[in-house]
Amino acid sequence: MLLSISTTHHPPSDLGYLLHKHPDRVQSFSLAFGKAHVFYPDLDSERCTACLMLDVDPIGLVRGKKGERTLDQYVNDRPYVASSMLAVAIAQVYGSALAGNCRDRPQLVNTPIPLEAHIPSLPCASGEELLYRLFAPLGYHVSVKPHSPQVPEIATERPTLFSIELAATKTLCELLSHLYVLVPVLDNEKHYYVGDEEVAKLMRHGEGWLAQHPERELIANRYLKYRRTLADEAIKQLREQDGESPNVIDSDDPEDPREEATERKLSLHQQRHHEIVSVLQSHGARKVVDLGCGEGRLLRELLKQPNFEKIIGMDVSHRSLEIAAERLRLDTLPPRVRERVELLHGSLMYRDRRIDGVDAAVLCEVIEHMDEPRLEAMEKVVFWALKPELVIITTPNSEYNTMWESLTAGSMRHKDHRFEWTRKQFQSWAKGIFSRFGYACEFRGIGDSGVAQDGRDVGSPSQMGVFVRDS
Ligand code: SAH
Repeated sequence: MLLSISTTHHPPSDLGYLLHKHPDRVQSFSLAFGKAHVFYPDLDSERCTACLMLDVDPIGLVRGKKGERTLDQYVNDRPYVASSMLAVAIAQVYGSALAGNCRDRPQLVNTPIPLEAHIPSLPCASGEELLYRLFAPLGYHVSVKPHSPQVPEIATERPTLFSIELAATKTLCELLSHLYVLVPVLDNEKHYYVGDEEVAKLMRHGEGWLAQHPERELIANRYLKYRRTLADEAIKQLREQDGESPNVIDSDDPEDPREEATERKLSLHQQRHHEIVSVLQSHGARKVVDLGCGEGRLLRELLKQPNFEKIIGMDVSHRSLEIAAERLRLDTLPPRVRERVELLHGSLMYRDRRIDGVDAAVLCEVIEHMDEPRLEAMEKVVFWALKPELVIITTPNSEYNTMWESLTAGSMRHKDHRFEWTRKQFQSWAKGIFSRFGYACEFRGIGDSGVAQDGRDVGSPSQMGVFVRDS
């Protein structure tokens, strides 16, 4: 496993000072998982390259561990790919450089110099696009070459191992901090315990760049190996560093904590939003209104997709709209993005001409906040007056409530819910919409479906109706 770092800065030998490793010598270090060697294969008047080579001892990694041995504990990719062990080696072998210390050339530490880093085997199971998404926003010129599997049986599989070269003019400390954080993010395994300290490490090494990184959530989640409470804490700190107001951050909790527990990686609410975006896209919607948009979480997802030309959020709650404006950072959006969004104060109970002409209307977790007898007024506003081609409605599936131990029988998920319907109740209401307004409806579940203790299939936690106007 190799990491080479090169520079064409003058004089190139300054790299040796910055790394605190003399270019004339090969130096070796003992680490918990094997050895690390530093050497300079290349030093002339134009260029200097320093290599950090890890010699991971796969047998040593297993030795002394309790439990049954399996073959893949001995035969695995650990010695050959860049993993979280590379991050440990960077911290231990290049510790001073990572901390930004240089006794002999202190002024060099803060001087950006032309740097190139090469890692010949970097795993990335999600494919090479993620490598660009992680490194390009940090200002690197990124070149990636996939390693194709040599074994004929698996040669058709998508490559998951890459050679990567990063080039940029940066301080060495910045380059090492980026690698220290992002290499473990790409590694599916982490060989050490992920505890509270890891949040502090992430914050320390992410200082000055992670809070503004467009993939900061993904980075925090993966770095902390999806330990939800740790990742939430890290993301909260990053958002504060990025200047977001605590109001927005606190209100980002999902509507119901029980729902959060249902899905660890993507909250149920996020799944709803992903599903809505994909239905809107498959119907080619361009102008979309989010009715009862609340604090703008779905609007934020819609704004990421350039094919939505016009995105309107409407809500009765002033306060929610204020938070939505903050969450979307309306006042800092570039004009071309800003003009795609509009927030309107209004009610679903009354026809509102300001939203006429949309292709699609979404009511995500809204109807259950309305008194049942008032649904009729909403139906007229949406399906008769506005009558877009597509209407998407999501609402809880009350059958699933039995899966949540903390929910006593018959109670609802949220104090403001006026009702929660079974799948049958939702479907029979939708039939009425078909007969009165001519909208055909398809139903989907959102989230994994559950089976109650008595063996009953209770469906998914959330249900979605996709209403399409008969032309
Ligand atoms: N759709 C959002 C918020 C769901 S909470 C999301 O997915 O995150 C329900 C929202 O519906 C609240 O913001 C509430 O203010 C809004 N709401 C309730 N009754 C409404 C009405 N009659 N007209 C418009 N919005 C309404």
